[in-house]
Amino acid sequence: MIPYGRQNVNQEDIDSVIEVLESDYLTQGKMVNTFEDAICKKVSAKYAVAVNSATSALHLACKALELGPGDLAWTSAISFVASANCALYCGADIDFIDIERETVNISVSELEQKLQRCLDQSLPLPKVLIVVHMAGHSADMKGIKQLSEQYGFRIIEDASHAIGSRYLNESVGSCQFSDAAIFSFHPVKIITTGEGGVLTTNCETIANTAKLLRSHGITRDNHDRNEGWYYEQLQLGFNYRLTDIQAALGFSQLKRLDEFVKKRQEKASYYIEQLSKLDLLLPNVNQLQSASWHLFIIQLKRHDRHSIFDCLRKKGIGVNVHYIPIYLQPYYRDKGFSSGYCPNAENYYSSALSLPLYPDLTKENQKYIIDVLKEVLQ
Ligand SMILES: *Cc1c(COP(=O)(O)O)cnc(C)c1O
Repeated sequence: MIPYGRQNVNQEDIDSVIEVLESDYLTQGKMVNTFEDAICKKVSAKYAVAVNSATSALHLACKALELGPGDLAWTSAISFVASANCALYCGADIDFIDIERETVNISVSELEQKLQRCLDQSLPLPKVLIVVHMAGHSADMKGIKQLSEQYGFRIIEDASHAIGSRYLNESVGSCQFSDAAIFSFHPVKIITTGEGGVLTTNCETIANTAKLLRSHGITRDNHDRNEGWYYEQLQLGFNYRLTDIQAALGFSQLKRLDEFVKKRQEKASYYIEQLSKLDLLLPNVNQLQSASWHLFIIQLKRHDRHSIFDCLRKKGIGVNVHYIPIYLQPYYRDKGFSSGYCPNAENYYSSALSLPLYPDLTKENQKYIIDVLKEVLQ
């Protein structure tokens, strides 16, 4: 089976992990700092806080923005469940914004209408909006930032798909239009640490809170005390630390980010060129040069997705579907959400198909995928 995504780990990556394994510190050594500094430099953010998953980073971002019981967060109807769960971890409520079919990102006009409707009807407005850059294509951050100033909410970018993506000549993660951004280093994402994630921000308070909560809420920086063993717990934190083993892999992978993104862009471009005559909605070509292309998602127009999916899987092509609208999950239905809530998201979901895309996808395999797709769609 040709998978839909796959990591690329080379000898240099392996050597850098071995170096840590042979050193004194497997965790809480120097490598996490080194990795964080490299992330800051790469995406032009002031601070980076590396953690054991993007899910943890989302949780810490919500905590740092003081999202809590009685508060409301909004996110995109189409994302991985973690984009919504993070608000619930904090005791806040969550609601969903419909997407734009062309970009599969939050629709800014839907967002604006919903904000105005809530204001008019004296319904609660969100404290935090969690924006998702679907497949690595940046959402309309400028438009969203403008609304955040008008309606008074904070912005977290769930950039799990988007390390290496650019928006208006800045790297995603520079937080030009947000309070914080988070990246995932799960093996199907652009670069990997096995499991891992990072939060970037330009706000010192957010960075310090995230650092504190990442390690139990414990600090050793009380300069009024001179006992060598002394530490104090200031808040109820977690153990969300990334190990030095993982950070070493991440640091090595980060050096290869540009190469990975370039290869993904080339393959995305080839798909677009080869599939343009089929009866499909292809991804937005305006982002060919700026997106990291975590996923290559096509939307079928008149074919039945289920049967095309089965057909391709039978031919050894590991297509996938990203994502089931979050609010249609049984857990969220139990909270009162039901079908019909976000029509664009549901129409998108019934037609979407992610084709294999990763740096090592061979031309031969890509040609095979294209040929099979042409055959089944004609
Ligand atoms: C992968 C992903 C996450 C979660 O990342 P982990 O590192 O596995 O916790 C969150 N949001 C989106 C959009 C993702 O794709």
